[in-house]
Amino acid sequence: MFTSRLFWKPFVYFSALIVLVGFIGGYTTSQWQKEQLTDQLKQRLRNTAISLEDVTKRSLLSGEFEDLQQVIQDIRTLTTTRITVVALDGVVYADTHKNPNKMENHANRDELIQALRNREGDSQRYSDTLNISMLYYAFRIQHQGRTLGCVRCALSTSQIDIQVASIQARIAELVFIVVITGLIVTGLVIFRMTRPVVRLIEEARELTTVQLGQTIGHGFDDEISELGRLLNELSSALADRMAQLEQNHHELLTVLEGMDEGVIAVDKNECIRFANEAVCEMFSLDLVEDQGRPIWEVIRNQMVQAIINQAKKTNAHFRGEIELLGPPTRYLALNASAIPTEDEDDFGVIIVIHDITEVRRLENLRRDFVANVSHELKTPLASIQAYAETLIDGAIEDQNNNRTFLGRIVEQSERLNMLIQDLLSIARVESNTGINEYSTVDVSDVLDRCIKYHQPRAGKKKIEINVCASNDVMIYADTEGIRQILDNLVDNAIKYTPESGTVNVGLVIHDKQVVLKVQDSGIGISEKHLQRIFERFYRVDKARSRELGGTGLGLSIVKHLVNAFDGEIDVTSILDQGTTFIVKLPLLEGMQTAVSVS
Ligand code: ADP
Repeated sequence: MFTSRLFWKPFVYFSALIVLVGFIGGYTTSQWQKEQLTDQLKQRLRNTAISLEDVTKRSLLSGEFEDLQQVIQDIRTLTTTRITVVALDGVVYADTHKNPNKMENHANRDELIQALRNREGDSQRYSDTLNISMLYYAFRIQHQGRTLGCVRCALSTSQIDIQVASIQARIAELVFIVVITGLIVTGLVIFRMTRPVVRLIEEARELTTVQLGQTIGHGFDDEISELGRLLNELSSALADRMAQLEQNHHELLTVLEGMDEGVIAVDKNECIRFANEAVCEMFSLDLVEDQGRPIWEVIRNQMVQAIINQAKKTNAHFRGEIELLGPPTRYLALNASAIPTEDEDDFGVIIVIHDITEVRRLENLRRDFVANVSHELKTPLASIQAYAETLIDGAIEDQNNNRTFLGRIVEQSERLNMLIQDLLSIARVESNTGINEYSTVDVSDVLDRCIKYHQPRAGKKKIEINVCASNDVMIYADTEGIRQILDNLVDNAIKYTPESGTVNVGLVIHDKQVVLKVQDSGIGISEKHLQRIFERFYRVDKARSRELGGTGLGLSIVKHLVNAFDGEIDVTSILDQGTTFIVKLPLLEGMQTAVSVS
């Protein structure tokens, strides 16, 4: 409270006013007192002078001053008044304190000049004769209209001075008491008036710093409580706003954190203000440690820097792409936008980062796929065209070869057909449109039919097919899809196994899964090709595959189908010894116990 300017300012002003009024009042009173005392003294001197009029007149008329001298000496003894009788020309005839003969001419004395002019006069001055300050009163003596001289009475003013000093001391005491009382009362009044305001200010200060929303201004006078009410309204509105902002901020953070896209914000000094999880993962940042550090210290990439600089410089939106060398290599698309800061001429930057690695990969796949498809289609088409042209050019007449050429055309057409079938299959599997007829499928039954279908081909190559399959192996899938899986695996096993080889096919239930095993004693696949055989159009030996009627799409279709049925596929192979494919598919619920081997 006593540190409040609200208290001290009026207190100082009022105190100065009280002191000034006290001082002026004291001074005026003491002056007034002094005048009163002087008037009283003057009256005394006048009375004395008037009482001496007759005796003085007689002495002045007769020229005898002894009686007069005696009278004034008597008066002096009684009253200590100095009495002087002065002739019209200023010569002193009688004086109570000095020998008149030795006294100088008094014609120039103020009080005497006044008295001769106005009958009476007075003055106060220092007496050279008595060496003290005196009050003089002179009275003109007349006789029958003729001025004879003056009688002058004087008294020392020291008495007055003593009395005035004593009165002044009393007045000063009084003024001091009044001033002190005034100051205390003023202080108390101002204190009472300003205390509620100061309290309200303190409460309001608390309101703004720690407890926004609490109510203040209880128990005050009308105006203050009104002010408190208004502040309460303001504070509650602010509290609501703050809560809303906080919630928005929280929601925004949650959204940013949950985004797959990276978001990073830098201030005008390019120091990191915010980075979400995705950015931290992309650039291996530490959310806590790296916050506040310059971005160029943490992400050392020229493109990032260039985009930030451009956005800052032009207050615009910028796009760019960067490649993060892996492994694995990642492609990121950056969108930078300038954000305003408190400094009008400078900007912060917010960068949204999309991981476009998958997009790039798919683009590459699509490009390769288109190139592969074109190539694969071109080869049989070119053959068909060549044989057809040869026939047109005359070979049709050649009885020895025309049938062979026509046979080749049919063969290539079948190949084209197979290729197109496989392409359609893969397109259906990839877009999921081909697998929409889910039902309970008996895999053993599908396998049985598949083996029967391939048996003649195997027979031609003297390949022995051994089947070891459980009965009634049921799964929930698409029958055509399961047929394609089995068909491709068994077809490959026969295709890539030389004459007199063996193909073993197993179908068992193990650990709630249907396990299909297709094992051959064929040419095998070397390690470096093994990981890529599921890619579209990937073939270990293109020429051999083509010759055997392969399209390079079979295993790719198998892989997609297995994935679509929530299964998994695995392959092991030893070059020149054989290959084993193992497919695991989820068993239909309730089927675990129904296992029997035929
Ligand atoms: P293709 O129509 O050429 O057989 P696939 O996608 O079915 O195409 O197979 C891809 C490649 O994998 C084949 O070209 C072949 O080189 C290899 N391959 C597939 N199955 C076998 C197998 N059982 N033994 C040896 N190689 C195989």
